[in-house]
Amino acid sequence: MQNLLAKKGNQLLVSRENQQEDTIIEVKGCTIGGNEIAVIAGPCAVEKEDILREIGFKVRAFGATMLRAGAFKPRTSPYTFQGLGEKGLQILAQVGEDLNMPIITEVMDTEDISLVGDYADILQVGARNMHNFSLLRKLGRTNKPVVLKRGIAATIEEWLLAAEYILAEGNSAVILCERGIRTSEPWTRNTLDLSAVALAKELSHLPVLVDPSHGTGVRSLVKPMAKAGITAGADGLMIEVHSNPEKAWSDGEQSLTPNDFRTLMHELRPVANACGRRMK
Ligand code: PEP
Ligand code: MN
Repeated sequence: MQNLLAKKGNQLLVSRENQQEDTIIEVKGCTIGGNEIAVIAGPCAVEKEDILREIGFKVRAFGATMLRAGAFKPRTSPYTFQGLGEKGLQILAQVGEDLNMPIITEVMDTEDISLVGDYADILQVGARNMHNFSLLRKLGRTNKPVVLKRGIAATIEEWLLAAEYILAEGNSAVILCERGIRTSEPWTRNTLDLSAVALAKELSHLPVLVDPSHGTGVRSLVKPMAKAGITAGADGLMIEVHSNPEKAWSDGEQSLTPNDFRTLMHELRPVANACGRRMK
């Protein structure tokens, strides 16, 4: 197939033309990209330390390779829980250290980059910020890997060019994350675009994650879409897990229980193997 990015006339840093082999990102002995499937799991937000510790302990035991949780939350309404801020970062870093798991958390604002970077192993750019070019540029000047979530209405080209902003500033440790796009469908929160995963893998050497939690917004759909994501060629998953989803401070309706997560990890293994990949 014709390389769509090549149509731009110049060779982009994100493109397969520029780099044939897959980019593999290593953080504290864990990899994203390459043969092993990365599994990033944890609650939507940092709440209380004991809750995060319980969730982290369980997801690690069941096969998660990295711990996620937001301290700065991009919420639709300014009147809902916005995250614990620095206190949340401290809790996340402490739990990550105790469990010996790399941590990933969102940075929403250019002015928070150095603060979040002091705690996090991987910085997340949320879907709503995919087009925040000053944020992307500044992250390109850091030495931390960046997970770049696809914007809710972004084309694949816009997503890859957003990644290009980071690479162009010198940071080549970018991980793409498909988290669903907005469509006319009202019964799911978003529509997980799996062809975007396969196409991003074709056009770019960067690792690609699938987030079936935000990608569907529906707990029962997370498991099948996680499997579908791996089948589509994703290098890993980002999954929201909460020990008590009904009581979660955000995104409980799409969070798996630790037991659901264990079942998913169990069922994922043969799927990954059938795709020539391996699970930790
Ligand atoms: C999240 O990961 O909790 C999140 C807010 O993701 P997104 O930016 O994809 O909505
Ligand atoms: Mn969430």
